[in-house]
Amino acid sequence: MTDWLSRHQLADAVLDALTASICVVDENGTIVATNEAWRRFARQNGGSGSYLGVNYAEVCFRAASSGQSPARRFGQAVRDVLTGSREHFEAEYPCHAPDERRWFLGRVTPLVLDPGEDGTARVGAVISHQDITERKLLELKLRRLAETDELTGLKNRWKFMELADKTLNLVRRGEMKASLILLDLDHFKSINDTHGHAAGDEALRVTARQLKRVARRHDHVARIGGEEFAIILSQTDEWGAIMMAERIRTAMHSCTIAAGKSRFSLTASLGVSEFDIADSDAGETLARADKSLYRAKDEGRNCVRASSLATVTPQVA
Ligand code: GH3
Ligand code: MG
Ligand code: MG
Repeated sequence: MTDWLSRHQLADAVLDALTASICVVDENGTIVATNEAWRRFARQNGGSGSYLGVNYAEVCFRAASSGQSPARRFGQAVRDVLTGSREHFEAEYPCHAPDERRWFLGRVTPLVLDPGEDGTARVGAVISHQDITERKLLELKLRRLAETDELTGLKNRWKFMELADKTLNLVRRGEMKASLILLDLDHFKSINDTHGHAAGDEALRVTARQLKRVARRHDHVARIGGEEFAIILSQTDEWGAIMMAERIRTAMHSCTIAAGKSRFSLTASLGVSEFDIADSDAGETLARADKSLYRAKDEGRNCVRASSLATVTPQVA
């Protein structure tokens, strides 16, 4: 066995030992070597062989023209690394199979071989794809937990404010009108005192269900405080939001909460405000709804108040 051959075999063995799918391309982007993980992945995903002799960037561009845009970025990155206009490239991308969600970390790094006998250094690239599905699923789960109110399953205050700021940006760009409803349960402390904390919790869950039921699919419903809820209504002006708030008020008023041996009903006060292009952030929109809500409390509870049409409470049959 020559020295060259043993080094060659060692390189192959090292490549095959790595868990990432790896291929080596020459200076033109043509695949000149693959590892076992690469070949296994190709076989498992309907490929026929190792793709030796195939131009990697061209395969990416062909895939991109059938609608997979990460493939275009990747194909371009391979070309950039080969021409030296980019030092290296790394990106996470989804690659879902029909029956399972998968994510990969793709990397392109330059490969400079020892100068050959003619003294020229040949340049290529190493392309690797590492399955990061487990980490990605955990990341998604953690993000869901960080954005969710545990008791009701609704979005929490943090997520709500993020969505409200996004909504304000759309309103500022003139893309739509949008409004916000703030709801606070009336005399909730006495519900807890009379029926117990567990019954209070059940009342909060029932409120969440009522809000989800009345809201439209693209509205964002959140629990932003103890017994305080909020909804972002896109494509809705203040008048539309008042109508929606009134439907919610009626739904709350007419539902009975059953918790243990207790049966009780409860009411809510609601404040409405429309996102305004002059608002510096969504906190300002929320503060207006809050002011309206306090008026609703002051003016007898179980009613809807809004910032500009504050004295009007429409009657919905
Ligand atoms: P108002 O009509 O003025 O809003 O009166 P209120 O009693 O609803 O308002 P207050 O702010 O005095 O009381 C809110 C109560 O909500 C007090 C608190 O114990 C209760 N609360 C907050 N979070 C929870 C929760 O997660 N579960 C239960 N059961 N109660 C909660
Ligand atoms: Mg409150
Ligand atoms: Mg309250």
